[in-house]
Amino acid sequence: MIDDAPASQALFDRARRVIPGGVSSPVRAFNAVGGTPRFIARAEGPYLIDADGRRLVDLVCSWGPMLLGHAHPQVIEAVGAAAARGTSYGTPTEPEVALAEEITARMPVERVRFTSSGTEATMSAIRLARGATGRDVVVKFAGCYHGHVDSLLASAGSGLATFAVPGTPGVPESSTALTLVLPYHDRDAVAAAFAEHGDRIACLITEAAPGNMGVITPDPGFNAFLAQTCREHGALFISDEVMTGFRASAQGYWGLESHEGWTPDLFTFGKVMGGGFPAAAFGGRADLMEQLAPLGPIYQAGTLSGNPVATTAGLATLQLATPEVYAHLDRVATTIKDAASAALAAAGVAHQVASAGTMFSIFLTDAPVRDFAGAQRTDVAAYGAFFHAMLEAGVYLPPSAFEAWFVSAAHDDDAVQVVLDALPGAAAAAARAQQGGAA
Ligand code: PLP
Repeated sequence: MIDDAPASQALFDRARRVIPGGVSSPVRAFNAVGGTPRFIARAEGPYLIDADGRRLVDLVCSWGPMLLGHAHPQVIEAVGAAAARGTSYGTPTEPEVALAEEITARMPVERVRFTSSGTEATMSAIRLARGATGRDVVVKFAGCYHGHVDSLLASAGSGLATFAVPGTPGVPESSTALTLVLPYHDRDAVAAAFAEHGDRIACLITEAAPGNMGVITPDPGFNAFLAQTCREHGALFISDEVMTGFRASAQGYWGLESHEGWTPDLFTFGKVMGGGFPAAAFGGRADLMEQLAPLGPIYQAGTLSGNPVATTAGLATLQLATPEVYAHLDRVATTIKDAASAALAAAGVAHQVASAGTMFSIFLTDAPVRDFAGAQRTDVAAYGAFFHAMLEAGVYLPPSAFEAWFVSAAHDDDAVQVVLDALPGAAAAAARAQQGGAA
């Protein structure tokens, strides 16, 4: 690994003296791939410019939000005008109404409540589900991430229908004692959990398409099966579209499956709908959502929720997210994943390509990946070598083997060409790592 980033190194040294691990969110630290994280000084279109002045084609896009690319002129203009009018009032505003209208126009939700992060959105949706059903148990899938909510940072218990254990120190056992963690795609496990605990299950929450163990393409009908199972047992189905919403397609992953004839009771959104600002939301049917305070008894709140600058950025982003944008994303994603697959195949590296609309992942493993156990078979050392070779060639990939790759409307032919040119060398580096040689 060549690590020639002196300005990033100096910033990282400074950061580690005042910020744990030098980062504000762990995956940014490069622990999974080794080396020094790149500190980014600015970004434009498809590019990040790091503290050393190097331009990198960005295939992370802030972990999803930057659908239009960085510093899109119309978004920046709208944000600048909003900021000039004051950055927060703690009152209702027009931009939050307009963004809620835009979301309800695109998604099958009648009411939307804004939060500042996806974590708050999922936490609040679960509280609403529990309050509305009068039940306490939550079902989730191993490898699906819904933010750092205590009850969802849980690992499976010893049996499929046994309650979970804390997934991290600091989460008390009592917080996960009402969570069931099941293997993704395992219909039998879902049926068994509902057979045993059905009358206590408030909700099942799932990523509409998993993107946090790398992307996993849901089997056709799997989400419909989950929705149906919930309905049969009087539980609510929460589709977490924080990552996939307005990203996998114009209507998120639900849009790709809506022909299957099911609708979640509640959705959670984030990332793209905040246009690069801290904004997220949850939404659903009016009869459920109106159980929230101030109309109903279920408490939920936030000082900066629906912030006027953030909702202006989100609205500008969604208004610019036309069908042509998604068609472009689709083309760019297909070009990159096909080229990556071809380069890895030519280098003799076993791999799997998985997609959820315009999001995709490449797993370095020889078996199709259908769940967390399958994702964990990916060769992380080979990915590290691949990642660093791409970085050296000017491409910023997720610094972890278990993440989605994201493209934007700004990824033009020049940016894509940088990626295509980098792939054969990176595939060769992955092959060398697998053969035990120097990466
Ligand atoms: N849900 C999903 C599917 C996510 O991907 C994430 C974040 O990556 C979250 C929830 C949490 O969102 P946030 O990081 O904004 O708290």
